[in-house]
Amino acid sequence: MGQLNAGIVPVTPFQQNCTILFDMDDKHGVVVDPGGDIDKVLAVLKDNAISAGAIWITHGHIDHAGGAMELKEALGIDIIGPHEADKSLLDNLENQGRRYGIAGARNCVPDRFLTEGETVSFGSHVFEVLHCPGHAPGHVVYYNRAAKFAHVGDVLFRGSVGRTDLPGGDHAALIASIKDKLLPLGDDIGFICGHGPGGRFGEERRTNPFLT
Ligand SMILES: [Zn+2]
Ligand SMILES: [Zn+2]
Repeated sequence: MGQLNAGIVPVTPFQQNCTILFDMDDKHGVVVDPGGDIDKVLAVLKDNAISAGAIWITHGHIDHAGGAMELKEALGIDIIGPHEADKSLLDNLENQGRRYGIAGARNCVPDRFLTEGETVSFGSHVFEVLHCPGHAPGHVVYYNRAAKFAHVGDVLFRGSVGRTDLPGGDHAALIASIKDKLLPLGDDIGFICGHGPGGRFGEERRTNPFLT
């Protein structure tokens, strides 16, 4: 098997990073957080000859999960994650869509919820599931130990952290998730997040104003 690679497709008016994780050699992979603009996501998969075997969701907000059912039906693949604590968010994506003026969002019914300590994989690429509440109660992070890589969704951003003023948000829980679960993985872990550029945990530990 080849190296793990990641491609980012900005979707929805929130410019959310829909991420395609795939193997460089066999071009099999997964789509993380297809929030919307599914035509665009499908075009990127096709143009790069990548076959997606599953959809992984980090948390139940509309910009991350609003397009999951459409992509599931287009490709005939399963939706995996997030943690069941986000079920009420996933059940209300159509309402969220009306509130935020996002057309086409659909309620999301995962084929499988995830819990702390489980693993998910494609090919030889194995990701540990970390339950990281705070931004959303059921938020999960996908951590690949071998590749020193984590997809942190909206838990941590470069120079910032996820907002906690939405229903189910909890700032103390968010900071605890970052300090107790993410940063101990090591300064050399590279991350992709839900919005904006990714980075490395070490730089966030040293310079992120929410963590210092
Ligand atoms: Zn979010
Ligand atoms: Zn988001």
